[in-house]
Amino acid sequence: MTDADRRVGFVGLGKMGAPMAARLARADWEVRGYDPVESARTALSAVGGVPVTSAADTAADTVVLMLPDSNVVEAVLFEGGLVEQLAPGSLVIDMSSSAPLRTQAVAERLAEHGVGLVDAPVSGGVTGAVAGTLTIMLGGSETDAERASLVVSHLGRVRHVGPVGAGHALKALNNLLSATHLWATSEAMLVGERFGLDAATMLAAINTSSGRSGSTEKKWPDFVLPGGFDSGFSLALMLKDMKIATDLAHSLDIPVELGDAAVGRWAEASANLPSGADHTEIVRWLRASAASDSRAV
Ligand code: NAD
Repeated sequence: MTDADRRVGFVGLGKMGAPMAARLARADWEVRGYDPVESARTALSAVGGVPVTSAADTAADTVVLMLPDSNVVEAVLFEGGLVEQLAPGSLVIDMSSSAPLRTQAVAERLAEHGVGLVDAPVSGGVTGAVAGTLTIMLGGSETDAERASLVVSHLGRVRHVGPVGAGHALKALNNLLSATHLWATSEAMLVGERFGLDAATMLAAINTSSGRSGSTEKKWPDFVLPGGFDSGFSLALMLKDMKIATDLAHSLDIPVELGDAAVGRWAEASANLPSGADHTEIVRWLRASAASDSRAV
């Protein structure tokens, strides 16, 4: 491999992007990274990356995007000047949790410039990003998937799940499940607590029983019970993913009653919590709602 082959662009150095870019830099990739937040660029420099001052300046044979949503992905590619800087034959890896139908449209627009796209959203949170243990749900052609894997396999386990858009569809569906069982788990826990059960005792029993999930095995023990509510994944981004999943269901004429109800409840929480609230704050909000409901009775 030449030096140019070990060069990768990286746009979006937030809670997930920063540790991911750092892992690539430590794996001897020359990471040319951009984020509008200056401290994020400085942090990249501290781990051996090369901060640049615009998204267009990240242009390389392979460019990773780790951005909030499809709106920002489209703006960075098509309004920020990046696409004009990408040579034909380049590959964009969108690791953001974007909307699958929009991703397919982005792929068509990039193809007009001779540029390829794979979607490679992740699950595993900030701890997985730091440890390089993310689950990477990759959508794209076989050839592009192999090429993207040279970069993203440093970040976790790659699962090639289908053509372009498949990764983003699966990621949104995963998060709809995750948000729904966090809500369901929290209702059950609040009932148990009011009955007089100890929360840690409940979780220990549920985690060797059929009600267990990522919410009982990780979110409640790590972020709720200690009172930190600090998973590093915002409630606004979770709600965005849930809506991507239910919008997809509606566009495919599949009824998702539970999903629609979950979106409604999470939207209510989002409207009532500060804009940067962690998604695990839903538990504190449900607890407060339960307390005020019982006072009203
Ligand atoms: P974040 O808000 O911490 O990071 C997003 C970054 O994008 C910020 O640093 C922001 O400054 C930057 N950004 C915004 N507009 C930009 C622009 N025009 N050009 C360049 N950079 C821009 O979000 P995050 O938690 O790191 O999540 C990133 C993506 O990963 C989201 O799609 C999210 O849904 C997904 N995700 C997050 C987690 C998690 O645990 N945080 C887990 C899995 C997936």
